[in-house]
Amino acid sequence: MSWTLEDARACDAADPLADWRSHFLLPEGIIYLDGNSLGALPAATPGVLARVTETEWGRHLISSWNRHDWIGASQRVGARIAPLIGAEADEVIVADSVSVNLTKLIAAALALRPGRGVILSEPGNFPTDLYMVQGLERMGLCSLRLAPVEDFAQALDGDVAAVLLSQVHYKSAAVHDMAALTAAAHAHGALTIWDLSHAVGAMPVALNPTGADFAVGCGYKYLNGGPGAPAFAFAARRHHAGLEQSICGWMGHAAPFAFDDAYAPAPGMKRLLAGTPPILSLAALEVGVRLIGDIGVSALHAKSMALSQCLIDDVSATCADFGIALASPPEAGARGSHVALRHPEAYPICQALIAAGVVGDFRAPDILRFGIAPAYVSFEDIWTAARRLEAVLRHETWRAPEFAARQTVT
Ligand SMILES: *Cc1c(COP(=O)(O)O)cnc(C)c1O
Repeated sequence: MSWTLEDARACDAADPLADWRSHFLLPEGIIYLDGNSLGALPAATPGVLARVTETEWGRHLISSWNRHDWIGASQRVGARIAPLIGAEADEVIVADSVSVNLTKLIAAALALRPGRGVILSEPGNFPTDLYMVQGLERMGLCSLRLAPVEDFAQALDGDVAAVLLSQVHYKSAAVHDMAALTAAAHAHGALTIWDLSHAVGAMPVALNPTGADFAVGCGYKYLNGGPGAPAFAFAARRHHAGLEQSICGWMGHAAPFAFDDAYAPAPGMKRLLAGTPPILSLAALEVGVRLIGDIGVSALHAKSMALSQCLIDDVSATCADFGIALASPPEAGARGSHVALRHPEAYPICQALIAAGVVGDFRAPDILRFGIAPAYVSFEDIWTAARRLEAVLRHETWRAPEFAARQTVT
């Protein structure tokens, strides 16, 4: 495909979401294609954080737990996330990290399936998902079974308590069929736990329409909640009554301020809280979630597919001679909102691109990953990023020694 800068600008002129870019603060001269690791800063966030810090914390102090409903923030923001993922308001709560929420929900699934001890996942799932199962395995509570999803027909048996999968794979962006895999799990009496980290905020997610049981997701990627934003957890309402919380903290107690010696779980999702919620981070996350809800996930998904297809078509036409191969599914409908390219020198290429003003990221051993956050990425950004990638490869600027040294966070 040969598309020109004028073509890209024409796409931007026709883009119904183009104006939303002004709702984000992005530095001049940077093309930011890393929204799938850390979403950009919403323009409203600094003001909200200043208000929460100076007025609520600084002046109203402890009274803000009631006066500004800090105590209800985990549920309030969860309720705002719910429509983005096909859930009801009372089925989602914001708490802790994805990792910690996974541990809670894996333990809850095991408790709902007595006599079954296997958690089934796929090799190459996001490491923390597999590590959380391994942690429970070391405590003798379950065992991890790994099989490619094509082999789930054999791998699903009467020992499987739950299937644990990412809806969008963090490296390849391949999308799993939530409806089909949930149905297959249920046919064998197993539950499902979906990690929505690379899906939420970029594409529609249909937890309840597909009959999913549990889910977790990330607040700092396409929800633009800021570094270390808290994560969320979903449990279908039919499981609420029997939901066992293993991390029995006082904030998930039925009456935290009764200070009883004995634990008694709060009704519903509130029991998934453990400790005191991070109010500043929740305030920032709420801004991002509102913004994504206002833009609308269907429109975001349509734009994301168009942008990622432009990138793939362009790079396939202009960079194939330099050893770049597509590592994502070629069809837009089979992909999430990022594009993965494979090259043996992916690390220095990624560094050279960052030096050229295009921020993507590297995933070991050989993946270049470009997050297409449709709320603020333009067609012109994609065109320019492809030109700079082409230049880095053609002129081999990635061979400069300064691009070889690995930093702590890649
Ligand atoms: C980003 C991401 C996480 C993050 O986990 P935290 O515990 O919140 O750091 C988990 N799972 C997947 C699939 C991710 O992409």
